[in-house]
Amino acid sequence: MLTIALSKGRIFKETLPLLAAAGINPAEDPETSRKLILPTNLDDVQLLIVRASDVPTYVQWGAADLGVAGKDVLMEHGGDGLYEPIDLKIAKCKLMVAGPVGFKGPAHGRLRVASKFVNSTRAHYAAKGQQVDVIKLYGSMELAPLVGLSDVIVDVVDTGNTLRANGLEPMEHIAEISSRLIVNRAAMKMKHARIKAFMALVEAAVA
Ligand code: AMP
Repeated sequence: MLTIALSKGRIFKETLPLLAAAGINPAEDPETSRKLILPTNLDDVQLLIVRASDVPTYVQWGAADLGVAGKDVLMEHGGDGLYEPIDLKIAKCKLMVAGPVGFKGPAHGRLRVASKFVNSTRAHYAAKGQQVDVIKLYGSMELAPLVGLSDVIVDVVDTGNTLRANGLEPMEHIAEISSRLIVNRAAMKMKHARIKAFMALVEAAVA
């Protein structure tokens, strides 16, 4: 059995054509089905529907052999127990620092940065040698500077429309983000031929 962990929404939609190229078609639509284990047209392939930030965890612990996860999520997870062999070039965006238009720095004290990407945020400022206070949030990061919870945010930005709608602008580029195929290290050895064949088809479809 090959088990592939995926999140619903954008990643699922953009991964479907790549799976189809590898001969894999889900038997149900995860947007309408309540099932978390989706069978496919292939008896030996199943899909797990999990939270985007949980995909690396399922693959790390071998509950899934393979997964599709954004680079933002992988940077935050750290990548223990995983191979990251293919950039799928889907769900592209940028991890950025953003703040109020014209913001030049805090009047006094340390910069306060709100983000759900606390590890990437700490790493970014540590690399610059800047001491900051990092405030963990789970969503709606754009609100934090508007109500004085933080000075700036670290978030993924695509068109920048959400920033602009909230009076914010991009300030610093941290990383280019796209979704990656990830593989459990033990599965890569134990199911080598099956996974290699799958990867070759996916790679061809990406190209
Ligand atoms: P934007 O197009 O910049 O207004 O992005 C809208 C919202 O979608 C942002 O607040 C991001 O949190 C989110 N977003 C954009 N692109 C991605 C992506 N590739 N993966 C996950 N979230 C994203």
